[in-house]
Amino acid sequence: MISVRHLSKAFGSNTVLSDISVDINSREVVVVIGPSGSGKSTFLRCLNLLEQPQGGDIVIEGVNLMDTKTRINEVRTEVGMVFQQFNLFPHKKVIENIMLAPVQVRKWPVERARQKALELLNKVGLAEKAEAYPASLSGGQAQRVAIARALAMEPKIMLFDEPTSALDPEMVGEVLAVMKDLAREGMTMVVVTHEMGFAREVGDRVLFMEQGAIVEEGPPEELFGSPQHMRTREFLSKVL
Ligand code: ATP
Ligand code: MG
Repeated sequence: MISVRHLSKAFGSNTVLSDISVDINSREVVVVIGPSGSGKSTFLRCLNLLEQPQGGDIVIEGVNLMDTKTRINEVRTEVGMVFQQFNLFPHKKVIENIMLAPVQVRKWPVERARQKALELLNKVGLAEKAEAYPASLSGGQAQRVAIARALAMEPKIMLFDEPTSALDPEMVGEVLAVMKDLAREGMTMVVVTHEMGFAREVGDRVLFMEQGAIVEEGPPEELFGSPQHMRTREFLSKVL
């Protein structure tokens, strides 16, 4: 469903991604790990054109993002993204945050968007927070709202960039639990995370990135259990 071929990205003279090729299947959960600055976020941001790659192809469900005729906004409606910072609109209630894009972008009637939002709040365990403002939420609650907001567009793919890194430790579990549910339901997911437990338990495949390249990839039990590449072993010895 996602096919990346020879993807390259540079900021000025700094090459950040070089010749990345990878396929991500429908319903697959791919976890991306690697040292700081290895290009994990940039890779994710290329998948919904938050960054414009210099070269290569990214084909999502048959649509080549690099094709000049492809409409970026249409791509973004199909690819949900959750960031480390929740980026909720502070002056809007939780439910309004979730309804905004379906009403404005998908042109859903308000009532339909409200029903969907309530359904999603229920799913992430926050039905009672519909009328609350973001400032009154804990970090874990805010991140669950951010996930609900992304899901409200009914995306085909969800990208997560270190969704639990900004949270206090006691709130990490509640966010990972929502992500696990999503994975179980068959959502296609690409997740950058330092949560190796999540990678092992939920990941179908782990990609290890370093210096803008995918150095090694494999099922979690293989990549963690018997890493083939010296750089992978070095990295894992620091984080496991
Ligand atoms: P981290 O684990 O710290 O989040 P990362 O693997 O996500 O790191 P990226 O954020 O993708 O790494 O950054 C990769 C490289 O690209 C870094 O050298 C970074 O300085 C550079 N970079 C990222 N975004 C920009 C930008 N907007 N302008 C210039 N350089 C950038
Ligand atoms: Mg990053």
